[in-house]
Parts: sequence; structure tokens; C-alpha cells
Amino acid sequence: MKKLPISAVAKRLTALFVLGLSLSGLSAQAADFPNKDRQITLIVPFAAGGPTDRVARDLSEALRKSLGTTVVVENDAGGPGGLIGASKLLRANPDGYTLMVHHIAMAIFPALVKNLPFKVDSDFEYLGMINDVPMTIVSKPQLPANNYKELKAWIAANKGNINIANAGLASASQLCSMLWEASLKVPMTTVPYKGTAPAMTDLIGGQVDLMCDQTTSTTSQIEGKKIKAYGVTTLKRLNIPALKDLPTLDELGEKGFQVTIWHGLYGPKGLPDDVKAKINVGLKAALRDPEFIKKQEGLGAVVITDNRSDPVEHKKFVQGEVTRWTPILNAAGVYAD
Ligand code: ASP
Repeated sequence: MKKLPISAVAKRLTALFVLGLSLSGLSAQAADFPNKDRQITLIVPFAAGGPTDRVARDLSEALRKSLGTTVVVENDAGGPGGLIGASKLLRANPDGYTLMVHHIAMAIFPALVKNLPFKVDSDFEYLGMINDVPMTIVSKPQLPANNYKELKAWIAANKGNINIANAGLASASQLCSMLWEASLKVPMTTVPYKGTAPAMTDLIGGQVDLMCDQTTSTTSQIEGKKIKAYGVTTLKRLNIPALKDLPTLDELGEKGFQVTIWHGLYGPKGLPDDVKAKINVGLKAALRDPEFIKKQEGLGAVVITDNRSDPVEHKKFVQGEVTRWTPILNAAGVYAD
């Protein structure tokens, strides 16, 4: 065996010692996770009171039970597709105490945001998907149309003078309205907000005409007759009391029109594997929590029960969504700087 000089042996021993220290530090951190004296923050990259916020708040309750520690929601709204909140997550300590609930923007960011400051496939830890959510075409209560046929007639009569709210570029509401406008072949004026909660306030108040938003935010407003609803973006009608009579856009003549968005749980890159595994166990328990399921289903959302609740499948699914949406969005020719 080749003999090493003393200095080289000392260097190797020091390196091993340092490695040992950092590994024991990591596993101590992971063994301790979740520490009951620390709270987990769920970043929501949109305004409070909107659909992503709704999902995160319901999930935080279920995670509190499954992880046994306080889980709070923090709204960091702004930027295309919730870019501000997503960027904040990436600056957080990768210790499991700062996570993010985000939606389909994770798949449409690459096509819609030029100069994206991160890579969606390698800068985030994928922790499992949460739900699939349909969307609805809704209007201000003052709009005279009471069904889709009347809405189309109103649109034809008001071409060039119609505005449609969304949560900013690369938001789910923008994606849906862009596809709907393309299907109608009628461009509308986009009014962006920092989430669909403030957009909903203006829709109810009649400051904007239309919006396409998740059922997790529109259901209660439709039920309370604060806004009008014309169609749902799934191929099958929804099976919830408030929306069961709402026709699908497909049956209304927008053939094949289908937009279902989804939410997932993310962490900053570098989360230790053990912490990641513990969060995933907590998430899966939350997805089986009858109270969480009841709240989500009551709003038309479908809680994930398939293997997309696994981090690897979550990431694969998002990559598939990037592949699906990129050519559609490129063809539409919209982007943000
Ligand atoms: N529904 C919003 C969107 O269109 C986001 C939100 O406010 O939750 O992306």
C-alpha cells in the first residue's frame, strides 16, 4: 500500500472530521424536524382571500394536525405568476420551516416569463401535489346576460369595450381567459391584480366585466349571487350543489375547451432528504384528512389521491405540464419581462 506523507494524512482526517460534523448537524436538524417550538410558514404568492390562499389555509390546518406544529400562511403577492413569493421561497433557509403552495404558474412560468430568475425544474424541491381545481367564467352582477348564449351576444355587441380581470401575467386566470378569448376570437382588455381576491372585489363592485377563476374562490360568490356564472372549464359538469347546473364550456359550443389547474407544495432547493420525507408524510396525511377533503370538495376541488402526491411524480407531472403548455403559449405570443 502506498504510504501518504503525514501532512496529507492530517488533511484527509480534517476533511473527514468536518464532513462528520456537517452530517451529524444535518441529521440532528432532520431528527428534530418538525420542532414543536417553531412554526412552518406557507408562502402564498397571491393576495389573501383568493383561491390559492384558500387552499393553503385549509392545508395549513390539516398540516398542523399531521406535522404537530403551527403552520401559518404568509401572502407574498406580486410579479407575473406570483414571482415575488416564489423568489422569496428560494432565499429561505432550506430547513423545512419555509414552504410554498403554488399552482399551474410553475408550469407556465418558462413560456410566459422572459428572464425568469430561477429554473422551475432544478431550483425548487418538489414535495407533492395537493389538488386539481376547475375554473369558471364569471361576470359582474350588473352584466345583463343571464346565460352563455346571452353572454356571447353581449360580447358581440360590446367588442373592443370589454375588460377581463386576472391575477397578473402567468396566472391561472390569465391562462384561462387567454384560451377563452382565443376560442371566442374576441380579444379583451386585461386588468391585472395581485391575486384574484382583489379582482373579485372589483368584479362584485362592477369595476371589471369578466373573470375566469378557480371554483375555490367563485363558488361561494356564485351561491351568494354576488357574481354571475356562465360555464365551467371541465369536460364534465361538477358534482357540487352550488355548481351542478352550470354547463361546461365544451357543451356550450367551445369544443374541447378544458383548463384544470392544480396546486403543489414546494420547498427551497437543498432541503435535507429526511426533512423532505417527513414533510411528504405530513402532506399525505393531510390529503387523507376528512375535514380537508370535505372543505376542498365543497368548493369543486379534487384532492390528489394518485401518485402525484409523491415528490418524484409531482415533478414529472409539472414537467409534463411545461411540455403541454409551452407550445400553446408560444403560439399565443404573450410574455412578460
Ligand atoms: N386565482 C389566481 C390566479 O389566477 C391566483 C390566486 O389569487 O390565488 O392565478
